[in-house]
Amino acid sequence: MNNMRSHRCGQVGVSLVGQEIKLAGWASRIRDLGGVVFVDLRDRYGNVQVVCEDGKPLEIAKEFKLESVLGITGTVRPRPDDMVNPDMATGAIEVVATKVEMLNTCLPLPFQIDQAENASEELRLKHRYLHLRHPVMAHNLRIRHLTSMAARRYLSDQDFLEVETPLLIKTTPEGARDYVVPSRVHHGQFYALPQSPQLYKQMLMAGGVDRYFQLARCLRDEDLRKDRQPEHTQIDLEMSFVTEDEVYAIIEEMMASIFAETLGIDLPTPFLRISYDEAMNLYGSDKPDLRFGNPMHTLDDIVPGCGFSVFEKTIENGGTVRCLNATGLASWSRKQVDALEDFVKARGAAGLARLKVTADGFETGIAKFLGEDFQASLRQCTGCSEGDLLLFVAGDWKMAVAATGALRLEIAEKAGWIPENSWALAWIRNFPLFEKDDKTGAWTACHHMFTQPRPEDMDGLEDDPGKGRAQLYDLVCNGVELGSGSIRIHQRELQERVFKIVGMKEEEYLEKFGFFLDALGFGAPPHGGIALGLDRLVMLLTNSPSLREVIAFPKTNLAASPLDHSPGRISDAQLVELNLQVVPEKPSGKDKPE
Ligand code: ASP
Repeated sequence: MNNMRSHRCGQVGVSLVGQEIKLAGWASRIRDLGGVVFVDLRDRYGNVQVVCEDGKPLEIAKEFKLESVLGITGTVRPRPDDMVNPDMATGAIEVVATKVEMLNTCLPLPFQIDQAENASEELRLKHRYLHLRHPVMAHNLRIRHLTSMAARRYLSDQDFLEVETPLLIKTTPEGARDYVVPSRVHHGQFYALPQSPQLYKQMLMAGGVDRYFQLARCLRDEDLRKDRQPEHTQIDLEMSFVTEDEVYAIIEEMMASIFAETLGIDLPTPFLRISYDEAMNLYGSDKPDLRFGNPMHTLDDIVPGCGFSVFEKTIENGGTVRCLNATGLASWSRKQVDALEDFVKARGAAGLARLKVTADGFETGIAKFLGEDFQASLRQCTGCSEGDLLLFVAGDWKMAVAATGALRLEIAEKAGWIPENSWALAWIRNFPLFEKDDKTGAWTACHHMFTQPRPEDMDGLEDDPGKGRAQLYDLVCNGVELGSGSIRIHQRELQERVFKIVGMKEEEYLEKFGFFLDALGFGAPPHGGIALGLDRLVMLLTNSPSLREVIAFPKTNLAASPLDHSPGRISDAQLVELNLQVVPEKPSGKDKPE
């Protein structure tokens, strides 16, 4: 046994009883009882109890500090019956040390690793290597690895080639700001870091690569929001000569392999497919959580003549009346329902009308206004029965669907409607191609500018851009958007039309995207693809509360790293070399996270 270890800590079992083994790891717990010192020795695979009960081992054990790095030689013995720990994988045995070596010491810890959750985020990130020793982090990194491997294996088996696209590029816009890198050779010029490999993967299709994938780093200088990371990883892929259905099939199979290999779950395929309009009308969101039902109902057809003037006026003014059947919640107190009213008011609603369904009919609030016909239609439309609570939001369409959709989630959360360990994956499709920027009134691409309109929307696109629908799809899982993709524009002329609709002059788009238009012009094949957020996927698979839990070295919400202190200043010599000058700081105060 010349090697540093013969076994891994977490893998010592009863089959080794009586054998001498060598272990190496960190002292994660030390209990000094005077004549005997118990140490939990930890490595990535788990913990094992080491006992130092006499001689040199006991002497050295007195010097152990938490997180000292130890090499242990010892004999495996069964624990006495009353000491067996059923919560520990190695809880039936212990290792009696015959030789102990201190491989490294450890400074006083800034936080106790098994209580890392009590330390501030800043401190945990500053000493990230310590937090990474925590079993949860080790688990998360392992699931991330298994996810990547499953994706790679599956895609490779389907003839996808993994190709690396450049990091120093001109720009690939995905709706965020570019991170830029100054060129030393070309003074005054800058590279952009890719927001995604979009243009390059499309040019790979023009290059005949046929099926491409990459676990691609994407860098986006976005406005700071809670739980955003400036760099993230996508499972990015692109395919030539495909329809939407073929992209769906590949992703469904790939997700099934990922779920099987990470969680041992048999994911049912194909996934549900819902149009964007349907998602908005039923769930008020383009990323609906489908782990539970309770879609909202539209009452627009039955409201005229209903007797309640607030509803009637809303419809007369072109608005909508939405109803949510909070099944079984008629017993909720007034206070509870008032809190829901505050919730929708914060989202722009004027109020939240309510009806309890009792054995004698509808009760409370607006019941007395409602005509019998309307009541009958309401029963039919909502499918309500005794014990249910009907909640109503009236107003303009955008506000009403969004507020009622958010209310649906709020109630689900509070009422415990969301089943644990359930997975609801769905495709949301037929998105609008363009949307109007609320502030500038200009048309912008809903996803990105490279998305193909539906064939039936191709003519007259310029006349009413808001009408066109795109061959664009999102994959959602448990109410989280996992990724977006589309069938792309592969003809130069159509791409130029789209650039113009989003307000670019010829001069501008030729300057920015001339090289890409050339690639389309030289025989690019029809193609399409998608990118899934690896970090978000792993966050779901590990049920982690934040992206930071599934990225080895994440940044804070202010896009900084307390670990290496990036971003940092560069030396004067570097500035001179780059021909750059730093303008004195402006008073700060903006760009604080939400
Ligand atoms: N490039 C897109 C994105 O990053 C994904 C795609 O359309 O394939 O969202």
